[in-house]
Amino acid sequence: MIKLVRALCALVCTSAFLLAGAAAHAQGGKTEVLWLGQAAFKITTPKGKVIVIDPYLTKNPKTPEKYKDLNALGHVDLILVTHGHFDHTADLPALAKLTGAPVMLNADMGTTYDTLGLVPGKQMIRFNKSGPLQPLGPGITITMTHAEHSSEVVYTDPETKKRSVHPGGEPAGYIIKLENGFTIYHAGDTGVFGDMKFIGEYYKPDLALLPIGGHFTMDPVHAAYATRVLLKPKHVIPMHYGTFPPLKGTPAEFKKALGKTSTKVHAMNPGDALTF
Ligand SMILES: [Zn+2]
Repeated sequence: MIKLVRALCALVCTSAFLLAGAAAHAQGGKTEVLWLGQAAFKITTPKGKVIVIDPYLTKNPKTPEKYKDLNALGHVDLILVTHGHFDHTADLPALAKLTGAPVMLNADMGTTYDTLGLVPGKQMIRFNKSGPLQPLGPGITITMTHAEHSSEVVYTDPETKKRSVHPGGEPAGYIIKLENGFTIYHAGDTGVFGDMKFIGEYYKPDLALLPIGGHFTMDPVHAAYATRVLLKPKHVIPMHYGTFPPLKGTPAEFKKALGKTSTKVHAMNPGDALTF
């Protein structure tokens, strides 16, 4: 009997230790992904770095009221921008000024932003497709990818209210590899393209953030093909739908088009956060 109790104790104690160890490991290695509507995300990395992508918040009809105050984002270490359209950049100058965080974007759009005085040139990391960079130290790698879309910068002069159109460079997506290897693909605004197969095979994204709204980007059927056949990520979060009437695609249509697959779909509401 004593032997049995000892054996049970050993088993339970060892299991508890292992569970505690596993929990501690998980806590040290979690990535938080907060969706703020359209293509805007706040990613908190396993070591606590904060990356904001495509800040369109204060005038985004789907962003929760709380996040229409840019201060609600707290400390920001890095801002990534996929292209020049307003629904990805409207709050970029204000957020860059508020946080002082470096802004990564395509080199040509950076030149336009510098010339127009929207973000100081020295605060921007102008780069281009491929070109992996580690702007926050050796743990986090950012790579710019192709996106099948367009990009321009429409500037409204604050005094005359006159609008002018400027080069926005080429649209992009991003591969964001975090400290523990967890790899996120933010596709930006894009149609489906064949090199998504390369992105899937080469970068092996754990999580893909994919537009499904249609009209300007992939619709649910295209996004399902990209997921199932080309990218094959472990997780996918649909984005860029429902913000304006033309962006009709829904997560339900996406899931239906996807059918049976090993990829887990996370349909979120703006303001929701998930941990991985
Ligand atoms: Zn867009």
